[in-house]
Amino acid sequence: EKLYRIQGWGEPYFSINAAGHVTVSPKGDRGGSLDLFELVESLRQRNLGLPLLIRFSDILEDRIERLNACFAKAIARYKYPGTYQGVFPVKCNQQRHLVEDLVRFGQPYQFGLEAGSKPELMIALATLKTPNSLLICNGYKDQEYIETALLAIRIGHKPVIVLEQLEEVPLVIEAARRLGIEPILGVRAKLTTKGTGRWGESAGDRAKFGLTLPEILNCVEQLGAAGILHSLQLLHFHIGSQISAIGVIKDAIREASQIYVELSALGANMHYLDVGGGLAIDYDGSKTNFYASKNYNMQNYANDIVAEVKEACEARQLGVPILVSESGRAIASHQSVLVFDVLGTSDVPSETPVPLQEKEHLIIRNLWETYSNINVENYQEAYHDALQFLEEAKSLFSLGYLSLTQRARAEQLYWVCCHKILEIARTQDYVPDDLEDLEKTMASIYYVNLSVFQSVPDSWAIDQLFPILPIHRLDEEPTRRGILADLTCDSDGKIAQFIDLRDVKSVLELHPLREVGERDSSPIPNSPNPKSPIQNRQSKEPYYLGLFLAGAYQEIMGNLHNLFGDTNAVHINLTPRGYEIEHVVKGDTMKEVLGYVQYDSEDLVESIRRSTEQALQENRITLEESQLLLQNYEKSLSRYTYLNCQ
Ligand code: PLP
Repeated sequence: EKLYRIQGWGEPYFSINAAGHVTVSPKGDRGGSLDLFELVESLRQRNLGLPLLIRFSDILEDRIERLNACFAKAIARYKYPGTYQGVFPVKCNQQRHLVEDLVRFGQPYQFGLEAGSKPELMIALATLKTPNSLLICNGYKDQEYIETALLAIRIGHKPVIVLEQLEEVPLVIEAARRLGIEPILGVRAKLTTKGTGRWGESAGDRAKFGLTLPEILNCVEQLGAAGILHSLQLLHFHIGSQISAIGVIKDAIREASQIYVELSALGANMHYLDVGGGLAIDYDGSKTNFYASKNYNMQNYANDIVAEVKEACEARQLGVPILVSESGRAIASHQSVLVFDVLGTSDVPSETPVPLQEKEHLIIRNLWETYSNINVENYQEAYHDALQFLEEAKSLFSLGYLSLTQRARAEQLYWVCCHKILEIARTQDYVPDDLEDLEKTMASIYYVNLSVFQSVPDSWAIDQLFPILPIHRLDEEPTRRGILADLTCDSDGKIAQFIDLRDVKSVLELHPLREVGERDSSPIPNSPNPKSPIQNRQSKEPYYLGLFLAGAYQEIMGNLHNLFGDTNAVHINLTPRGYEIEHVVKGDTMKEVLGYVQYDSEDLVESIRRSTEQALQENRITLEESQLLLQNYEKSLSRYTYLNCQ
């Protein structure tokens, strides 16, 4: 548990059981848990291949309940004479089943949706059925967007058109007048309070979105001149996602509260204060203001919003607003777990070297001597010696003074020196700077059945950290340290940054792969001539890794690099007798991804058929071979884009 810090980031949903498997408690502390490893095994028996995205609807429900409970508690604590009515930003995860679940789970709290674009507005209009819930209309708008939002009032929605650009103001005034519909309007303010970390650029005077204060005043004037200033009811801001420091949130609320009361004073009919997103989650469990963590909890967040807004309104003897938040990450991240398998590993040589023979080359003797004498006193010096001898060996080889076998022996000696040095370094409290990279250099490469670009794009694009760990064998010491290399033919397709306490570590503790049937015996040592990971695969026991907290943003931002498509996804509900699979959403087939790039599968098959006929004519292929090729080709088209390791 300590190694992977699961208690820190996983509570109350994820833990480790006595069998060494990850368990999922989708309802938090309120009952029922599942063994994730057993669940994956049983899903595989249902022909659901890995990588597999498992969504736990009960976690989603729990997140919504928690957020609402925190605001309810804060409202009671500060005797806030108003209410809270949150919305879910559809951009975080647009998958239909998820949005439908969200709307259903949010009904008791009149939880609404936020749309940031026209297609998201389409989703929200058709999905949101909760009377009185808000439909916050953000993003850039054209006439069609505005008209649709206005007309939504006629079918019972409560759309708030949030003005983000001055150009939108005359469009709204004109459309409202033409349709004879009184709009509910909001303005998005560009706060001076800046967010922190990865998404901090969402605020500040030069931020991409929102209106500066002079622009807000201009907007008020235009609405006043058109006689619809009373339609302006909401103030919105968003200072960025994953705000890790509570101080930044407080500053933003304070600034926004002042704008809110000023707008009221100017004659706007202010009713709502929409604090946007930003509520962070703890990816590394450190509970600090490190970017992958946060130094506050959901309750602190709600308390600060409620208290600050109340104070600002009381000071001006103004009624308090209905509080709105647009938390996406905090609602959607925990509900899905991505499980993927390891195809094979590649390790640096570690076998005990053959003892020094008579008359070996001086460079080999030097390396052997270094290797034999490494100890706690001299391990740093030994590292530099070994490095220098290796460099010399390479030069000697290039100049023709060392044979291939001698060079290979020099390299092997170098690696075993590094192993010994690293073992000593790991026992020390302080690791000298020059040895810091050694851990990384010596890391095993675990080849995983996954596309980082498709399933965890933020890991690749912005070095976002996600907790990753094996979902089984956690009762065994993980004796290897590795990085993860994905299936794509791209050197960026790897994960080489992992959570640590308030920090990032470059290797992940993992287990050696086991041969089938090897369960209780010791692992087979590295063979001197490791087979390629792909050749090795069939004889290995499955080794499953889980990537957690990636339920927000990742799915939709994932791309089709190398044409690895959407992964299989299942929705799991807890039942009194265990669980039920509510939905299975099959991942992309090859035919589908090829279709995205305008290939017609029938044309493709026809082209291969023609080529085989031609080859038959010219006796380059047998009839049997041509049939096998065609069958494989046709079958592949309806198959998953990932490797099938069953
Ligand atoms: N609201 C707006 C306007 C956003 O741009 C975003 C995302 O950045 C969100 C809400 C959701 O933010 P978060 O996921 O931090 O809750």
